[in-house]
Parts: sequence; structure tokens; C-alpha cells
Amino acid sequence: MTRRFHLLVSGRVDLDERQLYPCSNREWSCNWLVQDDAPAGRCFSCRLTRRKPDADDTIALEKLAKTEEAKRRLILQLSDLGLPITPWDAREGGLGFDLLSSLSDGSRVVIGHSRGIITIDLAESLDDRREALRVRLGEPYRTILGHLRHEVGHYFQNVLITDEATWARCRELFGDERTSYQDALKHHYSVGAPADWHTRFISEYATMHPWEDFAETFAHYLHITGTLQTAAVLGVHLDAAVSPVRTADVKPRESYEEQSIERLLEDWEWMSEAFNRINRSMGFGDLYPFDIVGPVEEKLAFVHAIVTAAPLSFAEQYALARADEGEHG
Ligand SMILES: [Zn+2]
Ligand SMILES: [Zn+2]
Repeated sequence: MTRRFHLLVSGRVDLDERQLYPCSNREWSCNWLVQDDAPAGRCFSCRLTRRKPDADDTIALEKLAKTEEAKRRLILQLSDLGLPITPWDAREGGLGFDLLSSLSDGSRVVIGHSRGIITIDLAESLDDRREALRVRLGEPYRTILGHLRHEVGHYFQNVLITDEATWARCRELFGDERTSYQDALKHHYSVGAPADWHTRFISEYATMHPWEDFAETFAHYLHITGTLQTAAVLGVHLDAAVSPVRTADVKPRESYEEQSIERLLEDWEWMSEAFNRINRSMGFGDLYPFDIVGPVEEKLAFVHAIVTAAPLSFAEQYALARADEGEHG
């Protein structure tokens, strides 16, 4: 994984005595590279897509390209965090994606996660549709990347929590996930979130059920670390000498693996304030329209602890994924 863009010469890239080729989904805008023995010529990210619209459903496939782009961003971030990805075709319950469109044949596509498979409704890549849903559901933020980060949280809750003591701590923070999901769902859509939800939860949806609280918190961990990482690699920081929002420099880091949750959240408090102001100066809403309160900090601390507990290097993950598949530029 070079994380760089390479120039294709005669349809390939020569790199350290290896030949790399464009992923066979290049026509649908995948820009990763593969080695010549990759099955079906697909990159690691494309391999994770289990189902997609039929080849003749060109409208749905156009929407697929945008969703796949968000998915590649997700996969890169997960590998940066050292989170293990076992593909759905390598092990029962492994990670896979059904990227389907509810506009294709009118069949209902429900966004969600079940036993490793994440389903995304490609129709939500249409701005008017997604925005209408966002307004109807009263959400401050709704994006395809956000959906992916939430759903993958469901996947990692089961992958990363493997012992009873950690489950017990998880239940203390998020509630008992063994309570009826169907009852919770019914209650949420008839009664709604408790009036004081913002004193304990990151979002109204998080109040629905302990599974959803964990997934929402996990998604925010990815929002925060992902945005700080981008700022870090671009060299964006707050200079206390000129900044009106801060009396000490704030320097985001590419990785917070070795840092405390307090460090991470303090950097985010100031950087998100700055990003919100930048957005407002263009007439947009806040980049990060959320408040992180004490109980949410504790939940984020738990996620930080399990994510950083036993990170794998990309090489190790790569081996897990059968070593023979993904390369990208
Ligand atoms: Zn690909
Ligand atoms: Zn969920």
C-alpha cells in the first residue's frame, strides 16, 4: 500500500520490481491498484462488495461509484487504526457490503448491519433524497460516509469485545444490548428520544438501543480521528500567537494511538471549533454540529481503549486477508 498516486504506463505501474494494475472496477471510478494475481482483478475494497446493482442498471451503478469512494475512505481509515478486516468470503461473519438501490426495482433497501454484512441504499447518494430524509428525521448530519462509519461500528463491537469484563464495562456505559431491539425500535419511532437526550448521548438515534448508542459513538470516533488526521497531514494547526480561539497551540496528530482520550478530545474541541467557523464563513452549517458531553466522553474513551488495545499493522491485516489481494496507489 503506497498511499500515493502513480502514473499508469502502458496500463500498469512498475514499482519495486512488482507490476501493479488498475482495479477491474476502474470504469466505476475505483482508483486503487492490484497485483496481477488478484482474483477477478479486484482491489481489497472492491472485493468487500458482496452485492451490487445489475450490470445493466447504469443509473444505480453511477450512484455506486460515489458510495464506493466513501467506502475506500472508510477502509483506509480502518487500516490506519489497525482494525482487523476479515472479508466476508474468507470467513462466515466477515465484513462485506451489499450496495443496493431502492430506486432500481422499487424493492425496499434498509440500511443496516447483519452478521458482518453492511447494507447501504445507493439512492441516498442522491442529494435531494438524503437531505429530505435528514430533515424529516431531524438529524444535523447525514452522509454516506457517516452511514458506513455507523454500520461498521456494529461490526466492530462484536469483533473487538471478546471477554466478559469488557462486555460488562460496555453495558455499564451503553446499556444492556440484550434488551429487545424490536421493542426499542417501536418505542423510538412512536415516543421519540427523551427530552434530555443531549446530556447523555451524542445523537437522538443513539438513545434508541444500546447497539445504536455504541455504533453512533464509534462513528463519531471515526469522524474525529479521521478529520484530525486529514488536518495533520495537511499541516493545519492552530497557532496560539494569532488564534482568537486558543491560548496554546493545537497540533492535530496523524495518529492518536499513543495518546490519551483527553488529548484527542481536547485537540478536537479546538479544531472542530475552528472548522465550524470556517464552514460558517462560507454560509454552511457547522462541520461538526454535535456537543460532546461528559457521559459521551466516557463512551468515546471506551471506544478509544478497545480500538487501540491490539492494533494490527497493515501488513498483518493484509496477511489475514490472504495477502494476495489489495494494492492501491
Ligand atoms: Zn477497486
Ligand atoms: Zn445502527
